[in-house]
Amino acid sequence: MLSTDLKRPARGGAQDLFYSQANTKGLPTIVRGDGVYIFDDKGNRFLDVISGAMAASLGQGNERVLKAMYDQGMKHTFSYVRVSRHLPNAVLTEKVAALAGPGFERVHLSSGGSESVEMAIKFLRQYSYAKGDRSKTKVITLMPSYHGGTLATIGWTGDEDAAAVWGPMAVFGEKIPAPLSYRPPFGSTSEEGALGVSAALEAKIVELGAENVLAFMMEPIGGQSTGANVPHPTFFSEVHRICRKYGVFLVFDEIVSACRSGKFLAAHHYPDFKPNVVITAKGLGATYTPIGAMMASAEMVDELAALTGFNLSHTYNANPITCAGAAAVLDEMTERNLIANASHLGAKLRARLESIKENSPVVGDVRGQGLMLAIEYVRDKQTKEVFSEEIYASDRIRQIGVDHGLMLYSRRQNGGRYGEWSVVCPPLIITEQQIDDLADRLERTLEVFADEMTRAGVL
Ligand code: PMP
Repeated sequence: MLSTDLKRPARGGAQDLFYSQANTKGLPTIVRGDGVYIFDDKGNRFLDVISGAMAASLGQGNERVLKAMYDQGMKHTFSYVRVSRHLPNAVLTEKVAALAGPGFERVHLSSGGSESVEMAIKFLRQYSYAKGDRSKTKVITLMPSYHGGTLATIGWTGDEDAAAVWGPMAVFGEKIPAPLSYRPPFGSTSEEGALGVSAALEAKIVELGAENVLAFMMEPIGGQSTGANVPHPTFFSEVHRICRKYGVFLVFDEIVSACRSGKFLAAHHYPDFKPNVVITAKGLGATYTPIGAMMASAEMVDELAALTGFNLSHTYNANPITCAGAAAVLDEMTERNLIANASHLGAKLRARLESIKENSPVVGDVRGQGLMLAIEYVRDKQTKEVFSEEIYASDRIRQIGVDHGLMLYSRRQNGGRYGEWSVVCPPLIITEQQIDDLADRLERTLEVFADEMTRAGVL
């Protein structure tokens, strides 16, 4: 008999059985979704503050996308990209390249974020190797940062706690401090931090030998690992200049930031300082289908294809059903003007978060761009002191949020060394009224938390 007990059945069970039991207390069982809301088995409604996993840009149940996938599946379910080609692949990549603009004419599809990050780095390695630059293998990334959970991407991810378990197995890349705007690693302002990190990048390239450095990879707007950190604009011009000077490829991981910042790519905010390769994933499939993409210039891709080619693929790369779904996602985004809308809706949400910050003793910072925002929690706004590990403020706030109809996602980065926060990135279809509802509920959630802390003598 099939067990309907999702908590701890004798066999099978939900995915969270694999996660730390300490962090899965009180997880709701979701049975239904509608627009920006999800509903549990007890009839409670939650506003999806984090769009699933910063991905569900179109919210739940978009008929056009689901129908496009169904229709495609009925017409032609699958054929393998290594031995045939199909139109949905070309239709989707044409749309992506048109949105991405010059320098990103070619789009390689894969099944998700981590896989696309690996594809991007492997593509650059293959390109350099084919052109005779065979010593180029080192990848420099930021600490903290996130680039995925496969063994290769764990090595590029900036997570100080990863080395203990994975160190003997993963190949760890070279790390330099992230240009955090609220906690600058150098100097005391965001700009001084950005200049310090740029100098650290240059020093690291020189130390490793430019002939050995393949790429510098960064998130132009941080995801969960930095809580929507937006580096100072100087950082973009500096890393572009330094990468050019030393012949190091610049890679933007836009797995979260694409579609959310008010432009298709966050890179579009810095048109003079384009990366060589951009990776995206989440917003592209909007959770309707697993997909990721890496984009590069036609010049590079065609040059490599004429040499060795980039002959890697996974079974589900560019499969027709996924391509049709993602093409419909982009049509929805374009026709409903959702990408540009993220700017003015984001400005409204940000203004509400700023006023919550003014009134709350526990909110130290509000940051981000468009609908990719975050709030950082502190015990002391003057000193930026983080709450203790026992309090685990960000997770406690997540739990209180559940009682107030909010689905939050929080992070205490590297034991709180870099702070703790919740990302605030609702679906792009959110209305102004729903933004007010989100902010009202968040305000009450933070009031309850602050009261708890006051009663406990922590504040
Ligand atoms: N890079 C960034 C910036 C991400 O946020 C994520 C996912 N959170 C990934 C890479 C990995 O993507 P996936 O989980 O789809 O493998």
